[in-house]
Amino acid sequence: MKPDGIPRFLLLCLCAALTFFALPWETGAEDVVYSCSTVGKKIALTFDDGPHPTLTPEILGILAEYGVPATFFVVGENAEWFPGIVKAEAEAGHEIGNHSYSHANLKKECYGEICREIDGCERAVWENFEYRTRLLRPPGGCLSDALVQAAGERDYTLVCWSVDTRDWAHTPTETIVKKVLDSAEGGDILLFHDYISGGSPTPGALEILLPELLRRGFEFVTVSELLESREK
Ligand SMILES: [Zn+2]
Repeated sequence: MKPDGIPRFLLLCLCAALTFFALPWETGAEDVVYSCSTVGKKIALTFDDGPHPTLTPEILGILAEYGVPATFFVVGENAEWFPGIVKAEAEAGHEIGNHSYSHANLKKECYGEICREIDGCERAVWENFEYRTRLLRPPGGCLSDALVQAAGERDYTLVCWSVDTRDWAHTPTETIVKKVLDSAEGGDILLFHDYISGGSPTPGALEILLPELLRRGFEFVTVSELLESREK
């Protein structure tokens, strides 16, 4: 059929539909949380890549010692290996977030694989004790339009960080402590890891940072609590 033969109304509808579906899905700053503008000195500790059979319990012990809540972004495969530790995190009042099933670089994956990674981690946590993850931290903080789309469809909030302690690179404890104490502000999201091979500076840094940040008037909250306290 020649275009002239298509009624003008249908042509307009067709053009509108093509334009809508052809629009690129822009990954903008509004799609991802890096920090929050909050009233007061609320701050969120986050731990990625766990659970780890010994490091995670050690960190849980330090958090309990100071009565500090945190958010654990777990890897689905690790959650399947150590379900009891994930359960212990939740039972201690910590928040559980989704860090993909296999710690894949989701920026390089197609939409279908991204969905499988998100859903696989969510399932690993849910089947353990019916806890539904709501926060998604992409491995490496690597983002893509397809990832933003998949997260949005599943009602996930994408969460990165405002302070990277670089504990994953075996940064010396004193360097981590100095960086956090020099830069921490209310509304910050601090990135730590509870799965680091070859020795971790994280427990040592926490033992110094937690009492000092409390002394300075910071209030530790989970990421969801930080989001809820956002200034309107
Ligand atoms: Zn990670």
